[in-house]
Amino acid sequence: MITIKSIRARVWNWKGPTVPPQGNFCTNASDILGDRGDAMQSFRFHQWLTCEVEASDGTVGIGNAALAPSLVKRAIDEFYAPMVIGQDPFDYAYLWEKMYRRTHAWGRKGVGMVAISAIDIGIWDLMGKLAGKPVFKLLGGRTKERIPCYYSKLYAGPVEAMQAEAEEAMKNGYTGFKTRFGYGPRDGMAGMRENIKRVEAVREVIGWDRDIMLEAYMGWNLDYTRRMIPKLEKFEPRWLEEPVIADDLRGYAELNRGPIPISGGEHEYSLLGCAQLLQGKAVSVLQYDTNRVGGITAAQKINAVAEAHQIPVIPHAGQMHNYHLTMANMNCPIAEYFPVFDVEVGNELFYYIFEGDPDAADGYLQLDDDLPGLGITISDSHLEHFEIEE
Ligand SMILES: [Mg+2]
Repeated sequence: MITIKSIRARVWNWKGPTVPPQGNFCTNASDILGDRGDAMQSFRFHQWLTCEVEASDGTVGIGNAALAPSLVKRAIDEFYAPMVIGQDPFDYAYLWEKMYRRTHAWGRKGVGMVAISAIDIGIWDLMGKLAGKPVFKLLGGRTKERIPCYYSKLYAGPVEAMQAEAEEAMKNGYTGFKTRFGYGPRDGMAGMRENIKRVEAVREVIGWDRDIMLEAYMGWNLDYTRRMIPKLEKFEPRWLEEPVIADDLRGYAELNRGPIPISGGEHEYSLLGCAQLLQGKAVSVLQYDTNRVGGITAAQKINAVAEAHQIPVIPHAGQMHNYHLTMANMNCPIAEYFPVFDVEVGNELFYYIFEGDPDAADGYLQLDDDLPGLGITISDSHLEHFEIEE
């Protein structure tokens, strides 16, 4: 029997060139504090974690995570790796429960669940490679010929620059565009007008036959969002994303009864956490991120619950673990797509660590039927820009 021989968690610290942060490029949860000076820091991720799950026959599955990589590495090395080493990777659901339950006192949400996610994704990649099948085939197979994807960038900035960016993105055939708000409760009515101006500007470029998605990244609050929604309604957004902090379930539920569908879940964890969002009618679109929510094992269970509630799942972020789930589930209609760019907020970093992520063509992504596992490898093309912690 093939067993898991080792778990190798590495932290990749980006030391290469970055696009300098601009003020008001995206609201976030710490805007409400007085020290706005470096509040943007909480929105930048210039570290990544890779988690290689090696089997006794030498096959290696690759998992990854992006939140608090050095803490996650410590949690994996000290607590989680010993629970799965020596075990059969095909016992993935058992191994998930073991990791979840043995660390339940502290691991249910946040760093602990991110660690479980990274190992679980590595196990799924390994299972695919051992079975000689792409992960989406292990999950049920192809539910669409190609995956439609939406363009996700358009950070708030000068109106002309945002319009130029949208214009450029239009050439690649996307039917959806997500833009970020730059202003929140601290910026009063003047900030509201700045927000509206930018939504209007993007709408002007993309026209009315394409989707516009609006992202607040937890940088608003209930009162502010209540006042913004009537001003935004006329732009027919497909959704308003994370208007309030992740813990404000009642806030989500109240807003979601209004005229604009509310999306969220990229900062929610586990099956039961996401089930609470669904049961509370808190979101109209569920956006877990597989490398936070508990990996592919948890994500696939959440997909079933979301489908039963008739709430579409559109995972947060691009990346293969999300794409394979999207391919295999009818209830995942489109994928988020981070275009390849210079390193800015850090969303782009996975393009510098892995090879194999598909580029969007004509607004679609394709997965290979013959590539086993997730279809990515760890790249050595940008090693000179990383400091790696073993
Ligand atoms: Mg988001």
